[in-house]
Amino acid sequence: MSAGERAHDDRLLLDVRGLTVRFPTPDGVVQAVSDVSFQLHRGETLGVVGESGSGKSVSNLAIMGLLNRTRTVISGEVDFKGRNLLTWSSDELRKVRGKEIAMVFQDPFACLHPMYRVGAQIAEAVTAHSDIGNSRAWARAIELLDHVGIPNAKSRARDYPHQFSGGMRQRAMIAMALVHNPDILICDEPTTALDVTVQAQILELIEGVKREFDIGVILVTHDLGVVAETANSVMVMYAGRIMEYGPAFDIFSRPQHPYTWGLLDSMPSIDRRLEALVPIEGSPPSLLTPPSGCPFHPRCPYRFEPCATKLPPLEAPTAEAHLDACWLPWDKKVELGTQRAKKVAA
Ligand code: SF4
Repeated sequence: MSAGERAHDDRLLLDVRGLTVRFPTPDGVVQAVSDVSFQLHRGETLGVVGESGSGKSVSNLAIMGLLNRTRTVISGEVDFKGRNLLTWSSDELRKVRGKEIAMVFQDPFACLHPMYRVGAQIAEAVTAHSDIGNSRAWARAIELLDHVGIPNAKSRARDYPHQFSGGMRQRAMIAMALVHNPDILICDEPTTALDVTVQAQILELIEGVKREFDIGVILVTHDLGVVAETANSVMVMYAGRIMEYGPAFDIFSRPQHPYTWGLLDSMPSIDRRLEALVPIEGSPPSLLTPPSGCPFHPRCPYRFEPCATKLPPLEAPTAEAHLDACWLPWDKKVELGTQRAKKVAA
């Protein structure tokens, strides 16, 4: 199903259509997110990938109602279980946040209060949305810590955050996010601050939680490698816009947008020599004055006549579910994609 179509299946959790976020500033309007549409189903992990400033985190903050409404102009529709979250009051959103839609951030140290025991902070999250008593909330905190793989959860619940390792702190944050059995878990760069081994364990935990609770996961990252193993679908963003969106298998096996090629070619992997990595030249544009036409054109090695003046639409050149926003004709994309695949294999 294409990103812009309305679906009517009961597995659909989130249907985002034309999400646009603008920040008026004294220097002009920051065009943070432009016309973003996607869907999330139960049991699905959607990987949202892009460099910093691509709009991936702002999109999710808008969905969570975490942007200051007096300083932000948000339009579009964010249907959650059939209701448009963008029309909800701050009070209504507060009830959904942390309960039906939960979020895990990059830096658990910044989210956990250093002066409170880890178990107490999870127990507080339990009581925040329910009238459970303190002792039952504490028991639930221990149960959740145990569930996310904290050894000796009963005694470790009494530890302070600094007594946990980075990986354990992130596990504690995931435990806190699961307190009210959410439908959606948004993980924003959940493994960026962790070393590679712990990174894999946390991704495995998120995947396990998704399967066990049959929830939808949005995994926001700058690293395509992070979503390669776990995502079912991938949305590649640049300068606040979707460049490519489709099933993860298609994005990795038949990428069809020059920006995705660039991200893949600059991604380290076990079987790729360091000298074979090709960074994308230049830097992402200012969102105060984004480039005209295709936002990637100043950095794109394949730009041609219409790219600098006309914005390419997000379309499905062949497979209905695999969309990209690029003016290159389909046969040219196939030719360039084949050349690239040969180079990678060499
Ligand atoms: Fe490159 Fe043009 Fe395609 Fe943009 S539309 S990615 S500039 S070829």
